[in-house]
Amino acid sequence: MAAQVRVVVMQAGLGPLDYAVPEGLVLAAGQPVQVPLGPRTVTGVVWDGLEGPAFKGKGLRAVRGVLPVPPLSAPLRRLCEWVSDYYLAPLASVLRMVLPQVALMGERQVVEYRLSGTLPARMTPERARAMDRLAGRSGTVSDLARAADVSDAVIRGLVNAGALAGETVSAGDLPPPPDADFAPPRLEAGQAEAAAALVGAVDAGGFAPFLLEGVTGSGKTEVYAEAIAAALRTGGQALVLLPEIALTAAFMKRLEARFGAAPLAWHSDLKTSARRAAYAAIADGRARLVVGARSALFLPFADLRLTVVDEAHETSFKQEEGVHYHARDVAVMRAQFEGAAVVLASATPAIETRVQAERGTYRHLMLPARYGGAEMPAIETLDLRRTPPPRGRWIAPPLASAITDTLARGEQALLFLNRRGYAPLTLCRACGERINCPNCTAWMVEHRLLHRLACHHCGHEMSVPPACPSCGEADALVACGPGVERIAEEVAALWPEARVALVTSDTITSPARAAALVASVEAREIDILIGTQLVTKGFHFPELTLVGVIDADLGLSGGDLRASERTFAQIAQVAGRAGRGAKPGRVMLQTHQPQARLMQALVNGDAAAFYANETAARRDLTLPPFGRLAALIVSAEDEGKARAAAATLAAAARPREGVQVLGPAPAPLAMLRGRYRFRLLVTARRTVPLSAWLRDWLGTAPPPAGVRVTVDVDPYSFV
Ligand code: ADP
Ligand code: ZN
Repeated sequence: MAAQVRVVVMQAGLGPLDYAVPEGLVLAAGQPVQVPLGPRTVTGVVWDGLEGPAFKGKGLRAVRGVLPVPPLSAPLRRLCEWVSDYYLAPLASVLRMVLPQVALMGERQVVEYRLSGTLPARMTPERARAMDRLAGRSGTVSDLARAADVSDAVIRGLVNAGALAGETVSAGDLPPPPDADFAPPRLEAGQAEAAAALVGAVDAGGFAPFLLEGVTGSGKTEVYAEAIAAALRTGGQALVLLPEIALTAAFMKRLEARFGAAPLAWHSDLKTSARRAAYAAIADGRARLVVGARSALFLPFADLRLTVVDEAHETSFKQEEGVHYHARDVAVMRAQFEGAAVVLASATPAIETRVQAERGTYRHLMLPARYGGAEMPAIETLDLRRTPPPRGRWIAPPLASAITDTLARGEQALLFLNRRGYAPLTLCRACGERINCPNCTAWMVEHRLLHRLACHHCGHEMSVPPACPSCGEADALVACGPGVERIAEEVAALWPEARVALVTSDTITSPARAAALVASVEAREIDILIGTQLVTKGFHFPELTLVGVIDADLGLSGGDLRASERTFAQIAQVAGRAGRGAKPGRVMLQTHQPQARLMQALVNGDAAAFYANETAARRDLTLPPFGRLAALIVSAEDEGKARAAAATLAAAARPREGVQVLGPAPAPLAMLRGRYRFRLLVTARRTVPLSAWLRDWLGTAPPPAGVRVTVDVDPYSFV
């Protein structure tokens, strides 16, 4: 009998299929192959250890061919199975992250385009915007479309108009290998002790999870760099995950200074040729040190000895579309399957992580003081009830005078407000109408720089209407509340001489822009930084001595279970940007509730008290990590259909001790992208195998046509 293999085809909805192996072909488990499916040829992966009866029919079709990609290793296959199982995602969807399109391209040549210097005969606003964003870039048509946030057709139009010139490229270059001993720092005693623990674990091999907790500026990067060096010395690979690709440029420079060669980058902003070269080098082990966004976690490392999750408390590690996974947790699982070390580094570790450390599952390493004797910044609250800003303004007088003093000393200030755009709400003065997104239950946010209103949920844009769309009154629309653009306007009015940089995802659109920002702040060409959560992370600016938090209460509304924890972490992080050099830092928190426990903990530098209290509250309510949660969203274009399907699903739940299904109820974001949404929340005891229970339940109640059910295990978003 001819040999046969089981293949997971990359089509969600299909289980594994059996295929015959043609004479002379030897197929290892994990090998990507091409197989026939109906009239088509599709990609799949030879899989081992999947249960179920083998196909015994006569018509067993044969594997068509082998793809030029090394087989996925056993640890990676086990990780795929775990992710699929735990997060209730089809194995095919997980495999699509492991085998992105570039992996399957082989040696095919690609054509990359860059600006030719010629202007198109016909210039449109869209073309102008695209050309602005493409300055200094090259890439395939789809790379450039993604980078400029326009359709492929716009890019092709620019090619045809001669504004973009093409050239055929084969593969990107690899950086030279990093040198573990290039420029090691002299560590302080506390740092050396933590580094020794990490190095010991890497040298010993085997699964070793760590929490590296160190206050902002304590030198966590220098410490885990020693663990990277150890991994490099073993001949293996190391991966550092960052929460935000905008930060990679500055970070790459630091690692390059330490190891004498830039790490390999993996993130969504890479062009096709670089991505393809990176994939191949990671798979065959030539890429020794990789820095990436969360998707790097699924790359087929040949010999991964260490993973570092930097700023591990960041909620952006949670993926909210497609496979809903948490990169921090998947990183730990991968390390377990690989038998490797994993370091979660943070100044403000998540309660989930703290509890794992308390239980002894993770080893807890601490760096309690800043490097080089730098002091922690002095944090004070500024009571908005007692010293409010003037009407229509957002910077209260004490903060304004602190900024004036800072500028007078030639130092830098940072103003933090976690809200993009100019104003979160546009309101009609005549009739009270609020301008909503037509597709979502959300306000349209004014972006004055772009002269547009934009929905931050679905991306819908429109120009600001000249008259109220409801009552028709002309010039009656007013902007309500502040976004960072409005703060920038106020700053320009108060300190017209100051050089200001706005740091948001609208202005820092690429790692190159982020690098340019860092360079100009370091060169002291910027006096005042104004930014969203993007400025809270990672930056090290020695001349930055004042941080003003415009609205310290902002994150506390909304009432999801992590609201206070997230607010605490965010403020502690942004405060941690102040006074990192020789000069002391000062932080002012504008708040309406200076007596709140959270504000007091920040002022007193008492993180331990804050976390102890939050942890106790979670324990009392059996919330994660003391209990488990899963969130389900049932959505449809028709409201009645969505409501009915959600009710049917809830009724189909099989009772089980320790599991409770709450809802359905209309989601807080009741409509998104034109679909009505109903939520179900499942709470479970920690000991219940929640994923298996969910799978059974959902299996018995498949949604009717037109209804979508999204499952989010360990949810972070409650809208
Ligand atoms: P964290 O990530 O904990 O906020 P960093 O790793 O960014 O801290 O370190 C803060 C600053 O101190 C950086 O500029 C870093 O290079 C410097 N630093 C930390 N430890 C050392 C050391 N042992 N030798 C030299 N510089 C150090
Ligand atoms: Zn919308």
